[in-house]
Amino acid sequence: MAAELILRSTLTCPHCGHQVTETMPTDACQFFYDCPGCGKLLQPKPGDCCVFCSWGSVPCPPVQQRRSCCG
Ligand SMILES: [Zn+2]
Repeated sequence: MAAELILRSTLTCPHCGHQVTETMPTDACQFFYDCPGCGKLLQPKPGDCCVFCSWGSVPCPPVQQRRSCCG
């Protein structure tokens, strides 16, 4: 049985501080995200697998399940 996953994460832009709540895909990692506040491209920090792990309030579903994503 899979643990209950949180699929909504609030991304905070490191450039302008804009916050937006997004629904995370369960089967893929989102590596890039265009900030709707300042238009800059967000990328994960080194060592993180996706923008939600770096800038979101909740890490991505594969990380919540403690299994590696991205292969
Ligand atoms: Zn921004």
